[in-house]
Amino acid sequence: MRLALTEAALAARGGDVPVGAVVLAPDGVTVLAAGHNEREAGGDPTAHAEVLALRRAAAETGEWRLTGCTLVVTLEPCTMCAGALVQSRVDRVVYGARDDKAGAAGSLWDVVRDRRLNHRPEVIEGVLADECAGLLTEFFRTR
Ligand SMILES: [Zn+2]
Repeated sequence: MRLALTEAALAARGGDVPVGAVVLAPDGVTVLAAGHNEREAGGDPTAHAEVLALRRAAAETGEWRLTGCTLVVTLEPCTMCAGALVQSRVDRVVYGARDDKAGAAGSLWDVVRDRRLNHRPEVIEGVLADECAGLLTEFFRTR
């Protein structure tokens, strides 16, 4: 999560909402890829931290299935990212701050654990939540 927070800070530097993500290999230690929100930087509506990190992890492993991997992200994933997480077959999603307005991993929706889907990653929430939320609060306060 510390690495994801560092990524989030990079997003803010580029004028993007500070959200950062990393993908860990099945060993739970090796960092396969990282990403931060680049919607503004890239003019891309789908350039969320999670999507970029998943794409890079898949490129790194040469395999779209990220079975056994863990995605760590500073903010609860939105519906798009929750969908991408299910599609990527990651085993675990760890997030920091809850997103009560748009979260799709337990807050507003729970797409990643929807029993109608055939793949449901484990979800661990609240890791360094205050620090993750603090970055966002600070970003929006200065806007
Ligand atoms: Zn998202």
